[in-house]
Amino acid sequence: MLQDVLLTEEERALKLEVRDFVKKEVSSDLLKKMDLNEITYPREFVQALGDRNLLGLRFPKDVGGRGLKWTAEIAALEEIGILGSSLGCAFSMPSIVGQALHSFGSQGQKERFLKPMLKGELVSAEGLTEPRGGSDFFGATTKAELKGDHFIVRGQKRFIVGADGADFFIIYCKTNSEAKPHESISLLLIEAGREGVEAKYLYGLLGTRGGGTGRLLFRDVKVPAENLIGKIDQGALIFNTMMVPERLTSAGGSLGQARAALEVAARYSDRRKAFGQKIRKFQGVSFKVADAITRLDAARALVHAAGQAVDAGLPSARRLVSEAKKFSTDAGWEICNLAMQIIGGIGYTNIFPIEKMIRDARLAQIWTGTNEVMNLLIQHEYYREVLNDPNPAREIEADAQEAHMADEKVYDDDEMWTKGW
Ligand SMILES: Cc1cc2nc3c(=O)[nH]c(=O)nc-3n(C[C@H](O)[C@H](O)[C@H](O)COP(=O)(O)OP(=O)(O)OC[C@H]3O[C@@H](n4cnc5c(N)ncnc54)[C@H](O)[C@@H]3O)c2cc1C
Repeated sequence: MLQDVLLTEEERALKLEVRDFVKKEVSSDLLKKMDLNEITYPREFVQALGDRNLLGLRFPKDVGGRGLKWTAEIAALEEIGILGSSLGCAFSMPSIVGQALHSFGSQGQKERFLKPMLKGELVSAEGLTEPRGGSDFFGATTKAELKGDHFIVRGQKRFIVGADGADFFIIYCKTNSEAKPHESISLLLIEAGREGVEAKYLYGLLGTRGGGTGRLLFRDVKVPAENLIGKIDQGALIFNTMMVPERLTSAGGSLGQARAALEVAARYSDRRKAFGQKIRKFQGVSFKVADAITRLDAARALVHAAGQAVDAGLPSARRLVSEAKKFSTDAGWEICNLAMQIIGGIGYTNIFPIEKMIRDARLAQIWTGTNEVMNLLIQHEYYREVLNDPNPAREIEADAQEAHMADEKVYDDDEMWTKGW
């Protein structure tokens, strides 16, 4: 297994621990009820994870984590990802919200929110997206006005997992309408029970159900100034820090989802017969399995490399995290579709779980920053790296047979009139 190369002995043990939890502690009944929207939020699941010290694995032990590296969290998440994106998200949210609280929160916020959250006693949610758009994050219009010892928050957020179900939200708000977009936003912690906070509408989702995804309204909500996370107008820095767990968890969860779909398809193709033989004997089937497992291994290697780059603080981490999110979620979608094709008609029914996996997998290409937004980041970072490389490779262009024909190297209109005229 590729994991054997990627993981330390301790990380392999954690993976088995989480696999055991997923096998023994999570019932099919929970998954089915969530998919039927009979459960609003999987609180017991979060509590069970907390009881086993499986939430926020990367955070230090003194706040309730295990002090592990990204590789460990990704390995654990791959196992949880088998359960689908809703439970994957419930597992990941403490890692995402926890990053903001751990890196920027006050001691009081860590005691009151971070520690209970990692014990599974408090459920958190994050609010970035607004009805007016998610990709244009810095265009946020939810306002927080500082009035003495408190803020007044007015606005709304959309598609918030845990809008119904969370105990507290971390909400990005505009705190300076005069400043440049990157210097105009702050992050506030808002308890669900505050007057004026309302989960307005729960969406009818294609998949990823049972997570309480809804619209959140803030109608002149009074929030104590001590609920500010980090400094005023420092939201951009926190946002960029939070986007690492936001995107790496999407990437890691997709690995588990894809692995699950492929396993179901591989087992099916080893039993199902057509034209007198097992369908896996047809190259049209077995080559799909080959393509899928290759894509899965490539995605896994990239996600782990991105995690290691983050842990090592490498400048390329931002690009690798975006690449991992894009590649792994695209691979997840493709692999789930290949799995359905291998199974044939029965895969399109709810006799097999592939149809739910496909419904779940589709979201991963959209949330936590769409894969188009990942492309924006990837190309931006790559150009920055390649054009500023202090030690580039040999002069590659000089290796062309007629590289000396400088007059033929025309890059813009002006040069057309000055070169070779
Ligand atoms: C089930 C679900 C759960 C979610 N959970 C949360 C949550 O818990 N918290 C939260 O804050 N948000 C959450 N989201 C929101 C999610 O992150 C956004 O939907 C996503 O960021 C895209 O924003 P948008 O839907 O407003 O699309 P838009 O930003 O309107 O984008 C629409 C399309 O335009 C493309 N586009 C936009 N700008 C560019 C550009 N510059 N270049 C190229 N293409 C571009 C996008 O890629 C997309 O294809 C959730 C969404 C869903 C559906």
